[in-house]
Amino acid sequence: MARIRNRITLTVVVVITAALFCAALLALQFMENNQMQHLRDSLLGEARLIATELTTTASEAQPQMARQSAVTLGRAVFLLSRDSRVLVSATPTGHVERDIPWPFDHPAPTVGQAHDFQAALHGQDMVLAAAPVSGNPAVHTVVIATPLEPEYARLLTDWRWLAVEFAGVGVLFILIGYLWARRIASPLEHIAATTEQIAAGDVRKRVPYWGQDEYGRISSAINSLTGRLLEQMDDLSQEKSKVEGIIKHMGSGVLVVDRSGVILVANETATAMLGGSQTQLVGQTHWVATTSLRISELIDTVLLKGHPLRKEVVVNNDINVELFVTPIFGANEEVVGAVAVLHDVTQFRRVERMRTEFVANVSHELRTPITAVKGFAETLLDGALENPDLCRQFVQIIYDESERLSHLVLDLLELSKMESGHSVFRFTRVNISELVDTAAARLQNQATQSGIDLFVHTPESPVFADVAPERITQVLINLIGNAIAYTPAPGRIDVSVLDADEEVTVEVADTGIGIPKADIPRIFERFYRVDKDRSRNTGGTGLGLAIVKHILEAHRGTIKVTSEVGRGSTFSFTLPKRQPERNPDGPSNSNP
Ligand code: ADP
Repeated sequence: MARIRNRITLTVVVVITAALFCAALLALQFMENNQMQHLRDSLLGEARLIATELTTTASEAQPQMARQSAVTLGRAVFLLSRDSRVLVSATPTGHVERDIPWPFDHPAPTVGQAHDFQAALHGQDMVLAAAPVSGNPAVHTVVIATPLEPEYARLLTDWRWLAVEFAGVGVLFILIGYLWARRIASPLEHIAATTEQIAAGDVRKRVPYWGQDEYGRISSAINSLTGRLLEQMDDLSQEKSKVEGIIKHMGSGVLVVDRSGVILVANETATAMLGGSQTQLVGQTHWVATTSLRISELIDTVLLKGHPLRKEVVVNNDINVELFVTPIFGANEEVVGAVAVLHDVTQFRRVERMRTEFVANVSHELRTPITAVKGFAETLLDGALENPDLCRQFVQIIYDESERLSHLVLDLLELSKMESGHSVFRFTRVNISELVDTAAARLQNQATQSGIDLFVHTPESPVFADVAPERITQVLINLIGNAIAYTPAPGRIDVSVLDADEEVTVEVADTGIGIPKADIPRIFERFYRVDKDRSRNTGGTGLGLAIVKHILEAHRGTIKVTSEVGRGSTFSFTLPKRQPERNPDGPSNSNP
């Protein structure tokens, strides 16, 4: 019986039943004793009374007197002689017998004092009282007898009533006991029910207050406990959301796995790096989710060995990831999981690679003219100086190569200035058509010498735009210069200025060799050339278009290339007519 209320009720029932049973037994005994005592007393009194009367009764009247007494009292009356013979026996029904022997199984009383005793007559238990008769020569003793059975029958009736009364009292007490048990148990039941609700997670629940007693103390203790719990939970959830926020918005990827390798946390960055969706990652083992063998191996090693590890791996084919895996320890210093932090170092590696390539490219580019200068100078020293024709030719080559060297160094300097943001751009409002005319005029001769017709098409009205004029001139010279260099004679170059509302577009179209489709995206890279020999022969450095791209970016402009191998190329760049307000001394005045 689990409920305390039932236990108390059962205890009350047992105690009350036992108490009432004992009380009933005592009462029964008391009643029996009392009634028998009363019977014996009345028998003795009656015997004495008859004895007194017999003192003065004549002997012939004695049978009648005995008969009358028997009928009146409703008892058997015996008059005994000195030698214990029954002189007269009278029954309550008025039947009289004379001179018969003592009929009981108990010896006839001989004592000279009134007393009572029990004896059986024809198997029937009886109570008897004897009283001595004084002054009567014949009758020595009077005995009165009555059967016990009617007395017990009466007692039984009384006992039945008593049992009913006790049962009633018992039921009443049990009812009171039950109510009392309920009163005691009900606060506890309330407290237990509420505590269960709190334990199930409803921590905002409060136990009702039950006054100053122990219940009250328990209630307030539970309430203050849950209050504190709630505060701690709030603190924890705040901390949790802070940590979640940090992890979520971290630039680095974060994976948290448990001891068995199941992913518990994966932030957006990690998900993006591993190329899955967050729902795919969380809840899966890292072996299934990450698809990168190296990452999984590293996490497993850390889970197994319990010390942090660091490695760079390539995921999703081309993402370089620097991976730090640290074990998480439990209370007993055992490994309960691991945290993997993933840094995307792809950009860093690319820059590193580009730098190495750049240095290699620059060295290579410088080596060619230097080798030429050195070689021809040596040849001159070895004797060619003596031959005026050869001398002139070689010195011309040395001059051309040093010129190339100087171009290269200047271009490099310019490019590095622009890339480092130290190149200053002074924007002024100029007519783009004029700039195009000037640039074309500067290259007209060169074009004519190469057997190429150079045409300029400008709108009738001037097209004003905010530009750094000398830079845009450089762009035009680079583009027209390339068009001349990569167009075999006879060829044609058309430079057009197109006026749009907010923008101006300049197109340089040639009928030259064209650029293969695959190379178009790369021609703006430093030192990238489609045909290295041709570029060198035309005095190109491989930096022209890289410079163009930087200058246009500084103007917030764009450049497009369309080309067909063998038919020609069109380079068209577009500039906004208005540049945003710039602080002449500020950094925005420089190339970003
Ligand atoms: P370069 O100094 O070699 O001309 P650029 O950066 O100016 O270097 O150009 C890069 C490459 O783009 C050139 O080497 C050439 O292969 C290609 N290219 C540029 N302009 C043209 C053009 N108008 N026609 C064909 N190819 C061109």
